[in-house]
Amino acid sequence: MEIIKQNLLNIQSQLPKNVTLVAVSKTKPVADLMEAYNAGQRVFGENYVQELVEKHEALPKDIQWHFIGHLQSRKVKLIAPFVNLIHGVDSLKLLHEINKEAQKNNRVIDCLLQIFIAEEESKFGLDEKELTEILSSDEFKKLKNIRIIGLMGMATFTENHNQIKKEFQNLKTIFDKVSKQKTDNCQLNTISTGMSGDYQLAIECGSTMVRIGSSIFGNRNYNN
Ligand SMILES: *Cc1c(COP(=O)(O)O)cnc(C)c1O
Repeated sequence: MEIIKQNLLNIQSQLPKNVTLVAVSKTKPVADLMEAYNAGQRVFGENYVQELVEKHEALPKDIQWHFIGHLQSRKVKLIAPFVNLIHGVDSLKLLHEINKEAQKNNRVIDCLLQIFIAEEESKFGLDEKELTEILSSDEFKKLKNIRIIGLMGMATFTENHNQIKKEFQNLKTIFDKVSKQKTDNCQLNTISTGMSGDYQLAIECGSTMVRIGSSIFGNRNYNN
C-alpha cells in the first residue's frame, strides 16, 4: 500500500535542504503521479514530449514539469507554453529554438546545459570548450527569452564507484569555473546530476538537483 508515498518520504528524508528532487515519471501512469502528488511531490521529470504534454493536461496545474530527455527542435513548441525547466540542452541551435518559442508564449524558459562527462560515446553533451564558447558568444547574449540556470550531466553506466565519482567531480569543477560569470540570461546555480543508483554520491560531489525514477515508482515497464 502507498509504496510510492513511502519511497518518496524515504528519499526526501535523506536529501539536504538545498537539493531539489525531480520525480522521474516516464512510462508511469497518471495514477502513480497522482499518488506522488498527494504525498506532496510537485516537481516531475519526463523524457518524451508527447507523454509530457498528455500528463500536463491530465494533472493538477501547480505541478512543475521538467523535460529531461533529448529534445528535438521541432518539438520545442509543444512544451514551450508550460515547461518549467529543460535539462538536456546541448546546442546553440536548440537554445535559439527554445528562445523563439518562449517569446511566442511571452515567457522566459529556464534551461540547463548538458555537459558530456561520461566515457560512453552514446551520451549527449558539450565539452568545456564548447560550453564556454556558447556562453561567451554575442549570439547567445541576445537570447532574452531563455535563462541558463545550471548544468546537467549523466555519469557512465557502470558499477565502478570511483569512475562515477570522478565524472561528478569533473562536472563540479566545470560548474565552479563558469558560474563566476553572471549575465542577464546566464546565472548558474544548479547542478542536475544523480539518479536512483548514484544520487547520494552525486550530492556528495555537489549536485543540487537529483532525478530519481525507479527508486520512487519502481522499475519501468516500456510495454505499457
Ligand atoms: C530515466 C532517467 C532518470 C531516472 O533514472 P532512475 O535510474 O530510474 O532513477 C534520470 N535522468 C534521466 C535523464 C533519465 O532519462
